[in-house]
Amino acid sequence: MLWEKESRKEDALYLNMFAISGGSATINEALSGIRIETKDSTWNKNDAVSMQRRTEGNEHFGNGYWNDAMEMYNASLRYAESGSKNISLAYANRSACFLKMKRYNECLIDVELAKEAGYPADLMPKLDRRKEKCLKAIEEGAAEATIMKYEPILSFEPDEHFPCMANVVKIGRDAEGKVGLFAKEDVDVGQTIIKEKAFMAYVYSRYGWKCNVCLKEYGNFVSCSKCTVAMFCSEECRGNSLHDYECGLKFCETYRLNTEHGLTGGHAFELNGLIMRVVRSCLVVIDMFASVDELMNFVEQAIKSDRNQIPTTLSDVKLQYGAFLKLPLKSNFTTLEDDALCVVFEAHKMLLDIPKLKTIFNLKKYRRFLMHLISHHYLVLDVHSNIASSGFSRDSNVPWASSTTGVMVGYLSHSCAPNVLVSTFHGNSVIITVRPVRKGQQIMNSLLLALLTLPKDQRHKMLWLERRMICQCVRCDGVTASLAQCKRMRSDPVYQYLTSKQLNPDDDEAMQTMIDKCKTFLRKYGQLQWSDEIGNIAQVYVTLTYLQYRGLMSSETILETS
Ligand SMILES: [Zn+2]
Ligand SMILES: [Zn+2]
Ligand SMILES: [Zn+2]
Repeated sequence: MLWEKESRKEDALYLNMFAISGGSATINEALSGIRIETKDSTWNKNDAVSMQRRTEGNEHFGNGYWNDAMEMYNASLRYAESGSKNISLAYANRSACFLKMKRYNECLIDVELAKEAGYPADLMPKLDRRKEKCLKAIEEGAAEATIMKYEPILSFEPDEHFPCMANVVKIGRDAEGKVGLFAKEDVDVGQTIIKEKAFMAYVYSRYGWKCNVCLKEYGNFVSCSKCTVAMFCSEECRGNSLHDYECGLKFCETYRLNTEHGLTGGHAFELNGLIMRVVRSCLVVIDMFASVDELMNFVEQAIKSDRNQIPTTLSDVKLQYGAFLKLPLKSNFTTLEDDALCVVFEAHKMLLDIPKLKTIFNLKKYRRFLMHLISHHYLVLDVHSNIASSGFSRDSNVPWASSTTGVMVGYLSHSCAPNVLVSTFHGNSVIITVRPVRKGQQIMNSLLLALLTLPKDQRHKMLWLERRMICQCVRCDGVTASLAQCKRMRSDPVYQYLTSKQLNPDDDEAMQTMIDKCKTFLRKYGQLQWSDEIGNIAQVYVTLTYLQYRGLMSSETILETS
């Protein structure tokens, strides 16, 4: 029913999706069973809450948990009322976190932010001492030793037409004619072959963790002056119109894992997050066009054109959007399942509640079009979003979670025996080789990290539930490493080291040693057929890389090896 019209007449309206499924009454009934948090006074700016968050931050700080402390100081900023001294105090305390994290430049910026916000004169000497410490460290060259040294960069020269892709990879078609990525030459383990800025990005939970617009982490965030949800990393992000639309919409910071199927991916997210993600994706593209008619024309052209057309470049946002619309949907689904329809219904309502959009979607044909647009986006996001979640922190059952969707990453095909995996960094998707790739081979990613070590029946169940997909990869075909090979891998000292080692994320050097050992192992055994041992180490490798990008120098993470 997606993109179907009421009749063949040229000016026919798109079908009313909500009527087809039994009317909005049915949808409302379904929605009533779903807890969507409504905005109430607990979402307002409130100095008492702001102060409480700062106190909680101080406790974390006292225990040496800089990440957790910083998140609480950010929460303190989000809740602080206009002109409140809580603002300057939170900036000042956050500068102390940055100092401990050896992020001296950020520390200096926060010191200035605290002063500008009217930091109390009697406390000023403390702040000045911090600034001096910072300047001294920078002078001594310590600033270079900060986190940014791990920022991922392409391991090769970028492709001429697709700068986010290394020139050892090309876009082509697989045996079935579907668009895919292929190696132009042999590529070693541990190479970054794609680093793509997200086309769509969204923060699901714990808003003090990332910039609301670009998903940068650990910035000198400034809070939205109106709501308690958004923080921005820069003037540019603050000036972005996305949050202007969203500010004041109902958000849901609570987060519930849908454990019904034991899932951890997209479907595990509370519907509220799914609704907000699709709302955000529509806002991105509505803003891209001068009028709804222009948007409609563009989308209709893209839908009608060949889905398997290989783009020649993705140099501007409209080209990216065209490619986004053509990404394969869940088994070419064109009918929405019930929960998806609820998401679309709610997103439609939410978008049309935004005064500016109510004005421009002023005709029935526009509003019908919007139903289909939201549905199409929902289906693309459902398959192609890369969800980063960094687990639970010590005092909260809400994981840090965000979603990024890139076009190039969407061209990766799935295999349960992948040769690359996806990591994320500041709203970028980063594709790293985890096995040696031969010239001409297709670049294959595993949709879910969990699949790497699961037996076939569980993989298939998961892939069906998540993607309505029946995998026919080599591993699912039963081609795996022999028992003797598995035994050899398990008795390899490198394997034993990696599976017995407790990770201490404070120790940069130990972390790097582990990463190097992962590469050694994957280089040695990665060309064998798949085995749980390879899956195990590939998983450890990509997790470590992710931690290293994020510069988790403190408390946070304990590595889990299965
Ligand atoms: Zn930003
Ligand atoms: Zn706001
Ligand atoms: Zn498979």
